[in-house]
Amino acid sequence: MDAFYDQGTLVAVLTTQPLDRLLDYRAPEGGCFQGAFVEVPLGPRKVLGVVWGPGKGDFDYAKVRSVIRVLDAVPMRDELRSFLERAGDYTLTPMPAMLRLATRAPGLGEAPSMRRIYRLGEGEPSRLTDARRRVLDVLRDMGGLALTQGELAEAAGVTPSVIKGLAKTGAVREEDAPRDTPFPRLDADYGGKDLAEDQAKAAEVLRAGAASGRYGTVLLKGVTGSGKTEVYLEAVAEALRQGRQALVLLPEIALTAEFLTRVEARFGAKPAEWHSGVTVTERRRVWKQVAQGGAQLVVGARSSLFLPFRDLGLIVVDEEHDTSYKQDEGVLYNARDMAVLRASICSAQVVLASATPSLESWANADAGKYTRLDLTSRFGAAVLPEMRSLDMRGEDLPSNRWVSPTLQAAVRARIAKGEQAMLFLNRRGYAPVTICRACGHQIGCPHCDARMVEHRFLQRLVCHQCGETIPKPETCPSCGAEDKLAAVGPGVERLAEEAAALFPEARLAVLSSDLFGSARALKEEIVRIAEGGADIVIGTQLVAKGHNFPLLTLVGVIDADLGLQGSDLRAAERTFQLMRQVAGRAGRAEKPGVALLQTYQPEHPVIRAILSGDEEGFWKAEAEERRAAGMPPYGRLAGVILSSTDVQEVFDLGNAMARQDAALRRVGAQVYGPAPAPIARVRGRHRVRLLVKAPKGVALQPALAEWAGQFRLKGELRMAIDIDPQNF
Ligand code: ADP
Ligand code: ZN
Repeated sequence: MDAFYDQGTLVAVLTTQPLDRLLDYRAPEGGCFQGAFVEVPLGPRKVLGVVWGPGKGDFDYAKVRSVIRVLDAVPMRDELRSFLERAGDYTLTPMPAMLRLATRAPGLGEAPSMRRIYRLGEGEPSRLTDARRRVLDVLRDMGGLALTQGELAEAAGVTPSVIKGLAKTGAVREEDAPRDTPFPRLDADYGGKDLAEDQAKAAEVLRAGAASGRYGTVLLKGVTGSGKTEVYLEAVAEALRQGRQALVLLPEIALTAEFLTRVEARFGAKPAEWHSGVTVTERRRVWKQVAQGGAQLVVGARSSLFLPFRDLGLIVVDEEHDTSYKQDEGVLYNARDMAVLRASICSAQVVLASATPSLESWANADAGKYTRLDLTSRFGAAVLPEMRSLDMRGEDLPSNRWVSPTLQAAVRARIAKGEQAMLFLNRRGYAPVTICRACGHQIGCPHCDARMVEHRFLQRLVCHQCGETIPKPETCPSCGAEDKLAAVGPGVERLAEEAAALFPEARLAVLSSDLFGSARALKEEIVRIAEGGADIVIGTQLVAKGHNFPLLTLVGVIDADLGLQGSDLRAAERTFQLMRQVAGRAGRAEKPGVALLQTYQPEHPVIRAILSGDEEGFWKAEAEERRAAGMPPYGRLAGVILSSTDVQEVFDLGNAMARQDAALRRVGAQVYGPAPAPIARVRGRHRVRLLVKAPKGVALQPALAEWAGQFRLKGELRMAIDIDPQNF
């Protein structure tokens, strides 16, 4: 049981304010538990905090202020407090920032009570203003679900008085509902499927793990369509039987809709959801129910790792290799690694599922730290797609066209049979470059060292670094020539244009994140495609992830060489994973699939490995290369990004840091750089990067903290330390 502090006892409180120490307060009337969420005075303000432990008492007791009140929330458990501390130590993140990750529940601590909700009513308003119509449209879109006044007003862009007025007419129904209802119980024995032999074997291992009550990590490696999801749902079932909670992390919100349906089929009810697309009210409910045990299963994005679970027994990281698990702003953490950390603290099991595991997980399994389970064939009648390269050097293509005649013929053959084809190009927008044919000027972002990408759908040029957009100019901003600006290279929108011209009869669906206003719209489009609402699916990276399109039998990769350019050491790994994943979209049901990779370098070792499917061989070669270079996962790496509006200032600091490296050398670590960061200017700030490399097993973080702590960040200078950077 957690410690209890009687009224007046000194307690140390961690707040979400950027202070570098815990603050002492007196426990309030009625006392408080360790871990209690409290409101405390800080100067003239009231701020949120958590009782972290006993106070230090190094201030005059008479001057110590009292906790204002204890919030109505389950106190934070020891397990979550140590997780935040250790994750903070690992990522070198100050504790207030860690606490912010764990308190992303709006209205935290408000007394549970009733709240007003609004849904569509029967009545007809006598007067239908524009504002009123928008309210009714929003409610109609909700399909019977209710919204709070605030949510409704925001979604419809009206003032609360409009809603009140409509409620009087009966067109909108006003009700009181309890704020925080538990989620429907999931039934572990509801809709289990008969598993194939290899599935059953894997499920048995996972069940035993989930029943053990101990920590353990399993790498569940299975080719696309092998039935990994069905297998790890058995681990979820076992955790539920044990009375423990489970968390399934997905790399992409768009994947949740399909997944929720599968959970419902398996457990008879839907689980809780946690991601940026969840409404404010619902997020509050999830947060509370997770703490109280009224949510048995959470499906969510990486941030759900910081929820206050009552008793977390299992974490599944689906598509564990996915780079979007790495948070790249604010606290720089990798959700896959943090899942393993949290599980080890709360005696839970981790399942890392992927068809193409990260080299890190592969190496951990190889070293015996993770148990590895393999599903080597597709479930049922489905077979793995045949993969072939399409040598572009032999194809007759006019300029500004990207679909080769061979690929065109293959697409036509598929649609003629009533099947679907996919064209994959990992580039958003219409064209990556806009160039002036008179003077050669390329339009760049005014704030970043990046080209502006034409997005014809938005009718603007967009910077993919900072999001700046400008209307497409009529004249060249450099030489003033008129009508000379030309789009160079393909983006997915341009590919869609080409496909529309090549296949005028076909129904096209374009899947690119910026073509959808909301996560919901994207989910609906994915369902529509799965149900056969399109003949050709054109998409970016978004389509490579986990979707199940049963009618899809052909995947055409427009540019298989795209990811192999550049000097990133991970280029081979990424390209291998992406190509195998996207090819895996084909032939997931009865009809066999084919993947065609357009390439100018069919002899490239990575392309050959992708085609041959000799994964073990590929990983061994990759592993050897990384081992020889002392790179992750065989060595440790940290990136330090320095930025400032003043280019001289960043380089001066970078050079000073590179010189004064004694703290690092003491532990055997080495500094490289400073060099311009991969994107040398973002949002008007110049960026340089230092890389710190150390042998495995070195306590790198304390050395980094000591080293970086020597330098004062004056004026505009900023420093961000990225442990285990994704790009190197
Ligand atoms: P993966 O996650 O490995 O890509 P899935 O779990 O999505 O594979 O399975 C692929 C397809 O096969 C899905 O449509 C799934 O419902 C089906 N499937 C998998 N295992 C079974 C089973 N044991 N019984 C019936 N259908 C299954
Ligand atoms: Zn920019």
